[in-house]
Amino acid sequence: MFVHTPDIPTLRLCSLLATLSYATIFLVLWARRRNETYLLYWGMSSALYAAGLLGFETLNALYAPIGAALNYGIVALSDFLLLMGMRRFDGKRPFALWMTVPILGSMIGVALPLMAIADPAAALMTSHITGALALGGCMVICACAILLSGDRETGTPRKIVAFGMLLYGPTYLLSIWIEIRGPLGAGMLDLLPMLQDQVLLGVLNLGLLATPWERALREVTDAAYRDPLTGAWNRTAFKQQEAALALPQNSLFLIDIDHFKTINDTYGHAAGDAVLTTFAARIEAVARARDGMFVRLGGDEFVLVAPTADDTDALALAEQVRTVPDLTGSGLPRYSLCIGLSRVHGGETTLSLAMARADRSLYRAKAAGRDQVAA
Ligand code: GH3
Ligand code: MG
Repeated sequence: MFVHTPDIPTLRLCSLLATLSYATIFLVLWARRRNETYLLYWGMSSALYAAGLLGFETLNALYAPIGAALNYGIVALSDFLLLMGMRRFDGKRPFALWMTVPILGSMIGVALPLMAIADPAAALMTSHITGALALGGCMVICACAILLSGDRETGTPRKIVAFGMLLYGPTYLLSIWIEIRGPLGAGMLDLLPMLQDQVLLGVLNLGLLATPWERALREVTDAAYRDPLTGAWNRTAFKQQEAALALPQNSLFLIDIDHFKTINDTYGHAAGDAVLTTFAARIEAVARARDGMFVRLGGDEFVLVAPTADDTDALALAEQVRTVPDLTGSGLPRYSLCIGLSRVHGGETTLSLAMARADRSLYRAKAAGRDQVAA
């Protein structure tokens, strides 16, 4: 099958060196960022897997039910430490009681045949098969738990980790099947998982390393493109999207809160901030439903760009936005808005002209007594 069939001890040594290097990376990172304990879990997971590999090397020659059970338990625990790290990363309690079932199950499944089957060769083979089933099962369980826990922020690296783990399952099954059928010779039970280890160890550990990196990238991007008070997009993001938004089906709504300075002066800046935050959250929901973009230009001035079917639809959306501040019973100061509305004209490649038209309309709305839409 192979031009050169690699020997299992060499493959195991390669896995050992690789997993030790991942353990070192995670533990060094954790040493510099002690509060990010998920790194400790991932480092411990790699270190325990290294211990398990060393254990397999020594235990293979022995006939020791307790030792074998402990070793499989260590490897199973190393899988679950990886999951615990991911749960910690997600802000959840890392350990859950159900995790003890597959870990203990792996230990019992390996020890039982060694104690219950009289023929040593048959006992060893059976315990190897149950061990392969147990480890494959643990990997699949952890992979599913990681996939199901996925948040959208770190979805891609999380999927890489989960699929890396998931693939161990079928390979263990395949190795058992080949081993039982026999024509390729004994040793497949160890060889296939060790061969795939050379690829999947890298896949899942690099996926793990990319997970916090993905979240950090999202946080930095948000800091650059989001307004810190309201969470709305900021001017930088607006500028970047301007060309994409300059479409004739889009309308532009320039929104300004009426007498906002008076709210600050009367109720204090904290109340003013609460008005801005609540208002922004409500319009953000409108924008999302309309597939539009909502931006805080600064102070109490916002812009919404959203697709509208025609003038009537644009006016209806403007009215929907204008009536958003009816916050009866919210405990917030009452306030009203003015909206300057303009539709993007065909042939316009930026929003500058639409903004200028909306600005003139807004000025008219203010001059005409506020709390109104002008188009
Ligand atoms: P108009 O009806 O003409 O729009 O009057 P206005 O008072 O709303 O407008 P003006 O531009 O005079 O006042 C805007 C105020 O918004 C002034 C500024 O102190 C306040 N402001 C700007 N940014 C913030 C903020 O982040 N939080 C709070 N609480 N106030 C802010
Ligand atoms: Mg204002």
